[in-house]
Amino acid sequence: MKDIARFLSGFKEFQRTYFCSESDFYNNLQKEQSPKVLVIACSDSRVDPAILTGCEPGDMFVVRNVANLVPPYENAEGRHGVSAALEYAVKNLEVEHVIILGHSCCGGIQALLAPNREDLGEFIAPWVKIAEPALMEVDRELPGKPDHLRRRACEQASVLVSLDNLLTFPWVWQRVVQGKLHLHGWYFDMDSGELHSYLPETGTFEALVPRCTRERTKA
Ligand SMILES: [Zn+2]
Repeated sequence: MKDIARFLSGFKEFQRTYFCSESDFYNNLQKEQSPKVLVIACSDSRVDPAILTGCEPGDMFVVRNVANLVPPYENAEGRHGVSAALEYAVKNLEVEHVIILGHSCCGGIQALLAPNREDLGEFIAPWVKIAEPALMEVDRELPGKPDHLRRRACEQASVLVSLDNLLTFPWVWQRVVQGKLHLHGWYFDMDSGELHSYLPETGTFEALVPRCTRERTKA
C-alpha cells in the first residue's frame, strides 16, 4: 500500500501542475493530441522514455514491450498490438520521428541469450525471438566473448533489427523514402548514464548525450 499511496501523492502533484496552476494545459490537450514522435521502449521500470527525456503530457506517443521490439509486418489475422500503435502513430497522428529506445541490462535480451530460453515463459520466448537475427549476428561476430559483451552487443543489434522491421511496413517505408518520417535507434546506457544513437554512416552507436561532468571529473 505504501507504493500506491506514493502514486496517489504523485498524481496530486501532477494535478496541481496541470489542472490548477496551468489550468488551460489540458483544455487544449483534451481536444486532440499531436505528438511528433513515437517512442518504442522496453517495459523495464528503469527506462521510462518520458522520464528519461523530461517530456510533458502530449509530447510523445509511446509503445512499451519486453525488449523494445518491433515485429515485422504481417497481414495475417492476429492481435498485433505494436503494429496497431505504429499504424495509428504513423497514419493518423502523422508522427515525424520513430525512436527505438534500447537499453543496457535488458532482461528481455537476457532471455533471448539464455540457453534455456524456451523454459523462461509461455509468452516471453516466442516474443523475444523477434530479435533472433541480432543473436545470430552476435554469435557470428563475437564468438566466445564474455556474456556481458554479448548481451550489450545483442541489445544494440536488436535495436537495428527493430529498425529494419519498421521498414517492412509499407506505409512506414513510403514515408521514410519521402523524407516525411525519420527513424532513430537509441540506446540508454545505465552504467554510464549516457544516451547513444546509432549512426548508419559508421555502423556504430555513439554518445548523443555523454556522461555527466561530475562523473567525468571523478574518473
Ligand atoms: Zn529491457
